[in-house]
Amino acid sequence: MGTYCFGIDVGGTTVKCGLFSTDGTLVEKWEIPTRKENNGDQILPDVAAAVNAKIEERGISKDDVEGVGIGVPGPVNSKGEVPRAVNLYWGYKDVVGEMEKLTGLRAKAGNDANVAALGEAWKGAAAGSSDVIMVTLGTGVGGGIIIDGKIVTGHHGAGGEIGHANVDHHETESCNCGNKGCLEQFASATGIVRMAKKELAASGENSVLRDMDDISAKAVLDAFKENDPVAVATMEKVGEQLGGSLAIFSCVTDPETIVIGGGVSKAGQPLIDCIQKYYKEYTFSSCKETPIVIATLGNDAGIYGAARMVL
Ligand SMILES: [Zn+2]
Repeated sequence: MGTYCFGIDVGGTTVKCGLFSTDGTLVEKWEIPTRKENNGDQILPDVAAAVNAKIEERGISKDDVEGVGIGVPGPVNSKGEVPRAVNLYWGYKDVVGEMEKLTGLRAKAGNDANVAALGEAWKGAAAGSSDVIMVTLGTGVGGGIIIDGKIVTGHHGAGGEIGHANVDHHETESCNCGNKGCLEQFASATGIVRMAKKELAASGENSVLRDMDDISAKAVLDAFKENDPVAVATMEKVGEQLGGSLAIFSCVTDPETIVIGGGVSKAGQPLIDCIQKYYKEYTFSSCKETPIVIATLGNDAGIYGAARMVL
């Protein structure tokens, strides 16, 4: 095996790049801007140029590089092709084929949330676990499922898309995906705000949230930690939806560790407690003791997981 590999995480505004040694040590990380003009046609050439420049700068032989792993915000099939990635303005893109041609290195590609889950399973909160479910609670809800140390990609590249699991068959508002009742509508930052507004309208309780012109998920989570009654009632509902969903997913894949990441996870243990309470109540007996933990790699999970894909 070579000494080095690259892990790349393509985001909507920046591309995070990591040079790793093959034992999983992050040697150096840096960022380049994501140039989305001309349907994002420059993104992969920019990434390849960054990789090639780093190899030259450090005097590394390409024979000593295992490959380049790349995470992208969109569905990626098992061949490393992306049918469409709206955040990058991409239509069909053969990510692996293009990267291999531009770098002369072996390449692998995966969905960014799936890749982040692999990163946490390799060097993060679930290090040492080969069966992991990770949920990323950000503007939306991302997910990644790791079985036997490998990402579940699925036939359409939609494996682990648990933010769009239908958890409320009676929801009347629409999700960004067009369906109604997705987990994302309850457990994302946007979903938490939506739930808090509903709770405010339905409840007669005093709340610090009532005086705010513009409620943010952070404001709800801060109020939750201060035992604000409306925020507590909101988070109980969020915890029940999320804990209940994880209880179902656990019956499908029986993970060793469940990881909660993304901006919302900064709420820490109080958030975990309210998810775990419902998870334990609803899941199958064998899965009740499965630990639910906060992600530890933060924004670096993507580069770790991307690097892991080529090893
Ligand atoms: Zn949806």
